Parts: sequence; C-alpha cells; structure tokens
Amino acid sequence: MTQTTDHTHDANATSWVESASGHADFPVQNLPIGVFSHGESAPRGGMAIGDMVLDLPGIAMMLEDPAEDAALTANAPVLNALFAGGRAPIKALREAVFALLTDESKRTGVEPHLYPAAECTMHVPFLIHDYTDFYTGIHHAVNIGSLFRPDNPLLPNYKHVPIGYHGRSSSIRVSGTDVKRPAGQQKPVEDGGNPEFGPSKRLDYELEMAIWIGQGNDLGDPIPVGEAEEHIAGISILNDWSARDIQAWEYQPLGPFLAKNFASTISPWIVTMDALAPFRTAQPVRAEGDPQPLPYLQHDTSAAAFGITMEVLLTTPKMRAEGAEPFRLSKGPMTAMYWTAAQLIAHHSVGGCNMQPGDLLGTGTLTSGEEGGEGSLIELTEGGKKTINLPNGEERKFLEDGDEIIMRAYAEKDGFARIGMGDCRATITG
Ligand code: MN
Repeated sequence: MTQTTDHTHDANATSWVESASGHADFPVQNLPIGVFSHGESAPRGGMAIGDMVLDLPGIAMMLEDPAEDAALTANAPVLNALFAGGRAPIKALREAVFALLTDESKRTGVEPHLYPAAECTMHVPFLIHDYTDFYTGIHHAVNIGSLFRPDNPLLPNYKHVPIGYHGRSSSIRVSGTDVKRPAGQQKPVEDGGNPEFGPSKRLDYELEMAIWIGQGNDLGDPIPVGEAEEHIAGISILNDWSARDIQAWEYQPLGPFLAKNFASTISPWIVTMDALAPFRTAQPVRAEGDPQPLPYLQHDTSAAAFGITMEVLLTTPKMRAEGAEPFRLSKGPMTAMYWTAAQLIAHHSVGGCNMQPGDLLGTGTLTSGEEGGEGSLIELTEGGKKTINLPNGEERKFLEDGDEIIMRAYAEKDGFARIGMGDCRATITG
C-alpha cells in the first residue's frame, strides 16, 4: 500500500462537529483511534474528533462492511483484534467515519454517540505483549555516549545495526497517570566504592515516539523491509522515564533494567498511517562515509520518515500555583531517527522473532542535534553539571516530586490540515 493522499486529507473538508474546525490535534483529517470510557460504561474503541470522542461500536450499524465489522471489532477493552486485520479495514473505517462526520444529514444519528473528551477516561489502547525500545536518535546517542565514554561516544556497531533492548510492558501507562519515583541501587560516588540505595536523585524523561505494530508475523517468518509499513498500526508519543543514577550503575554489560522498568507513559491516541500520509518525508541522507545498510535493511526511503515536530514542556507545583504557562524544555523533529520505522521492524523480525498486534516499538530519545532540541534532561544539563533556569526563578537539573512533564507532537504541511497526537503527560510523585 503506497502512501497516497485522498479526499480524507482535503484541507477544505469540515465536520459538523464544530470544535473540529481548526483543532490543533484532532480535525476531521486525523481521526485517531483509542480506547475510552465514559461514566460507568465499559472501555471500548473511539475516535477523537475536535473536543469529542466518537463511540465506534455505537455507530457500527450506520456503516457497511468492512467498516461496520471494524467498528464492531472495536467493541473491546483493547484494540489488538481491530489492528490485527492489517491496514485495509482501518482505512475503510477512516473513510466511513469521515463520510459520517462531514455529512450534515448524518448528524442526528451520530450525535448521541459523541462524548465530550473532557468527560472521558482514556486507557492504554492495546494489550501490549512486548515493548522494545530502540536507540535511533543519533544525536542523543552521541550526547549520551560522550557522557559515559568521552573518548568513544558512538560504538562501532551503531551505524550498522539498529540498537535496542527488550523493555517492560507491564508498567506502561496512559497519559495522566502519576509516576512514582523509583528507589534503587545507585552508582557509587567514587569508582570502586559501594552503591547507594534510595529514591533516585537523577530522574529524567526521554522524548520518544511510539510505533505500534498492527498485523503480526509468524515465528520464523521475518517481515521484509519493503512490507514492514503494512505492519504498522500507527504512532503515539512515548515518554521513556529513566533513573540516570540507577542506569549508570546497572547498564553494563546487559543494558537498561530497573532504571527504566518502573514506568513508561504513552499518549492515548493511535494516529494511523493513513492520517499521516501527507506528512511522510524522505529519510535524511546518511553522512558521507557512513556505511550503507545491509541488504535486508535497504528500501525506498524517499517517504520513509515522518514530518512530525515534538516538544517537551515542564510545569512545577509552584508554576501551577502561580498559573504560569508550561515551560518548553525542547523542540525537535522526528526525522532525527537514524533508522526508519520500516528498518526497525525488518531488523526486529529478521531472526524470526514474531511481532504481535499491539507490540510497542520506541524510537529512542530523539534529540535534534541543535541547541534547544535535547530530548532528555541528562543532555540539557550535560549530566547534571548545568542548571536549567525557569522563568519564575526556580532551577532544575533533574525532576523533583510534583513536576509534570508534558510531551506534544504534531504534523504541519502547507496545503494540509495540521494534525496532532494529543498530550502525553505525567506528574512525579514521591
Ligand atoms: Mn529510551
């Protein structure tokens, strides 16, 4: 399936849902899918439209197959079954809902199935069997490598093999869920000393995007890179919370463990590959002298990247009490990925590993390589050496209890309606 645009991307299309017009995240051209509940009702699939959530099972009888079947399959607390069917039914559902929401004559029938988003509770949209976090942000890899290994920041494998580790899926939570500061063993202050134990003193976030797997593959049957995008359900925002003092002590020789398994936060909406079609862009050309990918990772990268802008914002308890605006810590593009999403999937499965619907692939921290584009505090503060001065006089090096991190991501392009992911936010508790 090539990424082409169609009438559902028309910037002039408008919905009779008034709040959708010019909505920063959820105009009718987006229609992301998530799991919501309203009042005492059971969690089920919904679509965001303006400030409202559309109950997908509720409108199923107004649709025709395959969209009707998709809307009925969305009548579940998780969307694994909906996305397991591949991209065709998702596209059909998008087109059918677009038709309902842009046709005034359907308003009376559809309106009882719309709920104010502010009254809804959002849930993790999949039963996430497996979560893998990659390390595709090359500027982040250089920055972190420089802190841990000043003489040798980028290890020799980096430009040949997509680096990743198998993460923890049980502690992934949806935006709005508090994150409890982890305790653990921390790196001795002096080399050769004994570790400290206690609440992390260097709690950090990582600005990442989440790539959701839709249709899976059988064990032993790798996904070719040229077919990999057919296996993507969509994308969300991911905050890979990281306790740097725990990480520094435990990461050798097997990589992150307790430093990252206490919590990860995702934005609730799956922005589909169809919604993202206008915003696909060329993968940045590799620097001169960089190796070419091995054949199993080679594909047409002319539209393999995502033209998405990401931001991290901070509020402290004092800022909120003062009614201050969130302070933006950084901003940068998703094109900071050294590997494409398709390459990540092809690599993950090349040895025969079976990807399953609802598997979550983190991109790794995406740092832009320019000042103001650092995707974590450890980079912004150069390992805690520099202080971040907030507008109200407060200072930060790492996160304190009560701090809230808000991540946002959106796509903009001339001639198309802007679409966004919705917030990915969480507050630190002691
Ligand atoms: Mn990470």
